[in-house]
Amino acid sequence: MIPFNKPAQTGREEAHLLKALSSGKLSGDGEYSLKCHEWFERNLPCKRALLTPSCTQALELAAILIDIKPGDEVIMPSYTFVSTANAFVLRGAKAVFVDIRPDTMNIDEAKIEASITDKTKAIVPVHYAGVACDMNAIMSLAERYGLYVIEDAAQGMMSEYEGRQLGTIGHMAAYSFHETKNYTSGGEGGLLIINDSSFQDRAEIIREKGTNRSLFFRGLVDKYSWVDVGSSYLPSELQAAYLWGQLENVNEINNFRLSIWEKYHAGLAPLKNEGLLDLPSVPSNCKHNAHMYYIKVKDLDERKRLIHYLKERDIMAVFHYVPLHTAKAGVDYGRFSGKDVYTSNESERLLRLPMWFNIPTSYIDNIIDAVLDFYH
Ligand SMILES: *Cc1c(COP(=O)(O)O)cnc(C)c1O
Repeated sequence: MIPFNKPAQTGREEAHLLKALSSGKLSGDGEYSLKCHEWFERNLPCKRALLTPSCTQALELAAILIDIKPGDEVIMPSYTFVSTANAFVLRGAKAVFVDIRPDTMNIDEAKIEASITDKTKAIVPVHYAGVACDMNAIMSLAERYGLYVIEDAAQGMMSEYEGRQLGTIGHMAAYSFHETKNYTSGGEGGLLIINDSSFQDRAEIIREKGTNRSLFFRGLVDKYSWVDVGSSYLPSELQAAYLWGQLENVNEINNFRLSIWEKYHAGLAPLKNEGLLDLPSVPSNCKHNAHMYYIKVKDLDERKRLIHYLKERDIMAVFHYVPLHTAKAGVDYGRFSGKDVYTSNESERLLRLPMWFNIPTSYIDNIIDAVLDFYH
C-alpha cells in the first residue's frame, strides 16, 4: 500500500533527541527551543517566533492577543481546517465564512469587503496548499477598516508571496509542525509568528500561564508572578530537538517535495489538456512549497469512483475539508457571508495524492499511470 503521508525524517533528528535527553532539561524553552526561535526570527524574518504545542494553540494564543470577545466577528474561508475557526470561536467570536477562489482554493479577496460589519475584528486568510492568498488586497482592506490579519500559514512554511515568506505579512501568523505538514516537530507542534512588535511581551506572558516568568529568566524582573490571563503553550524540548534536525537543512525537504510536485504536474498534464480534470495553479507572484498535490475531478461521484479505483491498486488518496458552514458546529458558531458559489462545489471535486519527503519516484510513476488508466 502506498500511504498518503509519512512524517518527514531527515536522519538528523535522532542525534538531537539524544542530546536533548541528556541535557537535564526537557520542559519548554530549553536550548533547542531557543535555537528554533532564533532560526525563525532570523530566516523569516519576524519580530518574535514562539514554538507552541500545535498550530491550533498558536491560533488560540493569537485570538487572546487581539482580545477577541463574545460578539466579535472573524472573517475566514469555510474551506479550511476546524482550528482556523475554533481558535476564535473559543473566545466567543462568530466565524464569518467567505467564498473561495476556484484557482487556488483560497479566500476570495474580492468578496471580503462585503462581509465586514462593525463587529468585525480580524481576517484570517488560510494559505491553502502553501499557495499564498492575495495579501496585498487583504492587508489594504484590513488597514482601511482597522482589522487585524492573522495568517493561518499552517501549510505555508517556505512559501513566498512577492518575495516575502508566508507568515511574515499579517500582524501575526501560525505554522503547523503536525506530521502531515512539510516540517514536523515529531508528530505535533506549531509556531506563533509575531510581526507587530506590540504583541511581543504579552505573547510571552500568555504562553507562560499568564506569568512574567520569561522576563524573570532574562533578569528583567526580580520575581515572577501572575500578571495576565494565560495558558500553557510551550512544547517539550524533545519536539524542538526533532524540529531542529529538519531546520538544519530545510531546503533538502523543500527541493524534494517540489520535484515530486513537478513530476505529478507534468505526468497529469495530458488529462488537463483533454479537459478531464483540473490541476493546481500557482499565481505568478507566489512561490509555493509543494505542501500537497491535488487534482480536481468532475464531481463527487467521480471522486468516489477514483478513490476506490486507486485503493484497489494499493494507492491511498484522500480528500478534505467538509466546508465548515455545512458542519453542525459551523451552523452554531458561524455564518456564510454572500453566496456559496465555489466552496461546496470545488471542495467536492478535490482529491489529494500521496506526497511525503523521500517518497520513491517509482511510486509517483505508478500513481500517475493509475490516474491515466482510470480516465482512459
Ligand atoms: C494542519 C492545519 C491546522 C492545525 O494544525 P495543528 O498543528 O494540527 O494544530 C490549522 N489550519 C490549517 C489550515 C491546517 O492545515
